[in-house]
Amino acid sequence: MSVEICPKCLKDDVKKDGFRQDKDVKKQKYQCNRCGHSTVNPLSEDDPRLTAGKTRFRTTVPRSKRYVITCAQNATDAHPVLKSLETYCKHNDAELLIIPIRYTNPTSLWGASAKAQDWWCDEVSPYLFNGRKKLHKHLIILGNVSTQLTAARPTQGFETITGPHSAIIGHPKLELQYIATPQQKLPKAIMTTGCCTIRNYIPSKAGSKGEHHHTYGAVVVERDGDRFYFRQLNALEDGTFIDIRTKYTPEGTEPTGRIPLMVCGDLHERYACPKTVAATFIGLNSIRSVLDPEKIAWHDVMDGDTVNPHERDNPFMRVARHEHAYSDIRKEISDAAAFIDKYASGDVENYIVASNHEDFLSRWMNWVDWRTDPENAEFYLETALEMVRAGSIGPNGYTGIHPFPYWMKQFIETANVKYLDVDESFTVHGIEAGFHGHRGPNGAKGAIASFGRIGVRTIIGHSHTPGIRDGVHQVGTMSQLSLSYTSGPSNWMNTNGVVYENGKRALLNVIDGHWMLFP
Ligand SMILES: [Zn+2]
Ligand SMILES: [Zn+2]
Repeated sequence: MSVEICPKCLKDDVKKDGFRQDKDVKKQKYQCNRCGHSTVNPLSEDDPRLTAGKTRFRTTVPRSKRYVITCAQNATDAHPVLKSLETYCKHNDAELLIIPIRYTNPTSLWGASAKAQDWWCDEVSPYLFNGRKKLHKHLIILGNVSTQLTAARPTQGFETITGPHSAIIGHPKLELQYIATPQQKLPKAIMTTGCCTIRNYIPSKAGSKGEHHHTYGAVVVERDGDRFYFRQLNALEDGTFIDIRTKYTPEGTEPTGRIPLMVCGDLHERYACPKTVAATFIGLNSIRSVLDPEKIAWHDVMDGDTVNPHERDNPFMRVARHEHAYSDIRKEISDAAAFIDKYASGDVENYIVASNHEDFLSRWMNWVDWRTDPENAEFYLETALEMVRAGSIGPNGYTGIHPFPYWMKQFIETANVKYLDVDESFTVHGIEAGFHGHRGPNGAKGAIASFGRIGVRTIIGHSHTPGIRDGVHQVGTMSQLSLSYTSGPSNWMNTNGVVYENGKRALLNVIDGHWMLFP
């Protein structure tokens, strides 16, 4: 004999309670003796909602060097990415943690009762963790907070929740922001995870936006003593993803080829952090050696402080620069060229993204009086003559040469270098990598927020603060984390970006000269 179960409180204590006439159909009505709920659709004993409804969450987190963290929506089937994440964990000796998130979808297959939807599919159940736990002395997983599933800014409002520690929040929309903390040397990261259950949203404006930003994937966290690293494992619709040089699928792993693009954090060559340069370019464990990028994009290649218009009226800075041989602009440019020759020659194509610090030179050409700057007078006059000769008026107005690329071409020995014009498109596997980030769409002041609105997936630089938001990835800097123009607690990070051959991006932090956990 079948047993009827109340869909609201899930107890098998219901009694028959007359009939309900639905048009021509007469339906048996039931009432629950426990909660009083009345229904014509009781659950049967074998309903999957019952077993899953008893979902038990993990209360402890096993100690591990590596964690993979994603989230799963209630009452929703697993996506194939879950199997790929299991493959990843097996191959990398990592612990999978899944943050349960709730979304009551009245039009979903499972009916209107929120209680009856409070279950997770069998595939994710063993990994569910809904607690708050320190995964590292600087990082906390927040399994116990709930963010609206359709939130446009899922990390917003969580800036202070973990004090000085970085935080991981379960959410299907990928987001990362950095917050300066006075207590710590490095800023803290607030990040979301991506998701391992299929899209299941209410058809509404918020629902369809959520659907659009729904990201299959996870974040991998590696513990390395005082440091931790994390990377995005961003999957395709088929559930496969790439991390470093390996593709992970539900069935297994495959090695990948060279990565198509590395975007270096803003270089500011003169002030580049030696440890970050080493982690990126020197030795077999460097990012360049391990990932072997086909292309490298560069932002703010030179700092340009020799010609910084913001410092033109500061005689003390000018004297100090002069005394330290930092006042020769020709040397600053040739040093930047030498850096690329040293670290990015060989079998790689270099792209110099038009950036604001190099633009200091174009501006200097307009404001400086060469008669007051004997050290740079000859350089100025040579450059001015070239600019005068090259200038012209075409159908779109003035055209001419930019002094920075003009001089780089004179100094550099590396053959494969392309200089992008301002706003010149440079796309790799669908990712636009030609914008520095200082100028937003339609001349607006650039920021990660304004690039998010253009609807094109981009990697930008400029702010020195890495982030992920609305289809924009922003790299950090390769410079020292505080320069004379920074003040107060800083949210700068040494962070490079990559585009994998599947068109997905990841950000790679360099922490104190290290960037990933090697076996
Ligand atoms: Zn910049
Ligand atoms: Zn910069």
